[in-house]
Amino acid sequence: MGNVVINVGMKEILEMKSYYSMHLVDKLPPGSVFAAKTPSCMITAYKSGKVLFQGNGSEQEAGRWGGNPAPASAKVAKGDLPAGIGGMSVIGSDEVGTGDFFGPITVVAAYVKKEHIPLLKELGVRDSKDLNDEKIIEIAKVIKDVVPFSLMTMKNEKYNQVQQSGMSQGKMKAILHNQAILNVLGKISPEKPEAILIDQFVQAGTYFQHVKSQKAVAKENVYFSTKAEGIHLAVAAASILARYAFIQYIDKLSEAAGFKIPKGAGAQVDVAAAKLILSKGRDVLPSFVKLHFANTDKALAIVNKKR
Ligand code: MN
Repeated sequence: MGNVVINVGMKEILEMKSYYSMHLVDKLPPGSVFAAKTPSCMITAYKSGKVLFQGNGSEQEAGRWGGNPAPASAKVAKGDLPAGIGGMSVIGSDEVGTGDFFGPITVVAAYVKKEHIPLLKELGVRDSKDLNDEKIIEIAKVIKDVVPFSLMTMKNEKYNQVQQSGMSQGKMKAILHNQAILNVLGKISPEKPEAILIDQFVQAGTYFQHVKSQKAVAKENVYFSTKAEGIHLAVAAASILARYAFIQYIDKLSEAAGFKIPKGAGAQVDVAAAKLILSKGRDVLPSFVKLHFANTDKALAIVNKKR
């Protein structure tokens, strides 16, 4: 649990205050301008221009403001994101399904103009991990007509084929993110985003290594951050749309299977895959699951026990 202190101007402090408006706390320490408490971080901004971040998410939160690290700070703020990125017009991208045994990988890039940020907030767009499927569907149905976006779905057959040919999941993701971003850039052209923010799954250098053989690569103003859903609503919107697509796909698989397909990669998917093999045969597996997961062998072991 780290503490980070950055030094910023009053303009930035007011910007931060509005950014954290949902999380402001009433009780202010002496000399402070505002204090806010997010699920991962306590933020206190002082009239002196010092802003203190405390808690697990302190580096993450401080990183989005990019102020000068104060000399006394134990840790240096990341500062690799443009200051105030949370209020810019941004293309965000995120993916869903990489850790799920059943179902595809869905990647969405979405463009959220700064004018649309209040509306999206109003609609309840936030970290999709805090939202249940019902809420995801409800929000996705509205925002899909508000924000320009591109959905890339890597279906299971293709995924297994590409994976068996030796491509890492990281490379697949990078290619899908790049393509989704290019699609959105094409859709909004000649307008350009002020920044492109990718929910980070590999280091920037690795990402660009992965996509270097692609016909076109989005490079200009591309930034990476972990937990980027919390940095700009474009990533949160992308994540909601990606999860919506994933849920819909799982529904289709459930229909084809004749029973409800579970998400994740826990014991419940082993049981479901075994049930699928017993009713439809082993040959259908490649169109339902990510074969290289350890769950495949576990499902087969269950089948063998039952036979
Ligand atoms: Mn992500």
